[in-house]
Amino acid sequence: MWTDTHCHLDAAEFDADRDAVASAAHAAGVSRIVIPAVARENFSTVRALAHRTPGARYALGIHPLYTPKARDDDLDVLRREIEASLDDPRFVGIGEIGLDYFVPGLDEARQQHFYDAQLRLAREFGLPAICHVRKSQDQVLKGLRRNGVTSGIAHAFNGSFQQARAFVDQGMHLGFGGNLTFERALQIRRLAQQLPLEAIVLETDAPDIPPAWLYRERNTPDQVPRIGTVLAGLRGVSPEELALGTTANAAAALPRLALSSA
Ligand SMILES: [Zn+2]
Repeated sequence: MWTDTHCHLDAAEFDADRDAVASAAHAAGVSRIVIPAVARENFSTVRALAHRTPGARYALGIHPLYTPKARDDDLDVLRREIEASLDDPRFVGIGEIGLDYFVPGLDEARQQHFYDAQLRLAREFGLPAICHVRKSQDQVLKGLRRNGVTSGIAHAFNGSFQQARAFVDQGMHLGFGGNLTFERALQIRRLAQQLPLEAIVLETDAPDIPPAWLYRERNTPDQVPRIGTVLAGLRGVSPEELALGTTANAAAALPRLALSSA
């Protein structure tokens, strides 16, 4: 049993075959798929998709790359949507939120404004945060500390060992996926190898971040077992042990994953 803790199954890349992609993941042993939202426009989409897809769950949030077109009252909409989702066992947390200092042209203050406001919502409702961290490790961590958020996932983690430890000390789990399948990705491989297994969750970020064998192709959630098998090899454990461990870690990072068995 594997868990994909980060999959944009609602993305347009899956319009032609979304159900088949989800079924293939299920058949491959990926029994949980977490679908984070990125903007107000897809809150209802990810919820509906999580409801009609076996094993799927959803998170609600505004992604840093979507802050340029987000409006301030989207935060009020988000609050109402969170309140309306608290009784929904398929709702697992706040995300995807965070800071991106890699993509040029983003307004730093605006990103920070949306990130902080959403961390306050996470804190207020006692929900974990699924964080986008790109060239922003220290600032994302500072936000978590400042707002008292102590659970969730730093997705597609790509920082130093020291930064990784700081996230773990804050209570966060670190998401690893297709990047670690590239032999030249030395830093990520070293992290995935040396961090305590308890710190690690698996993810695809599909349709993005394809593994080495799908280079420049569309990524899909059924790749989790193969990515996990690469990680198991790096760590010298069996794929079964890694599947069990990382699935337990996903439930620790996103406790609402345990609310329903459907
Ligand atoms: Zn994402």
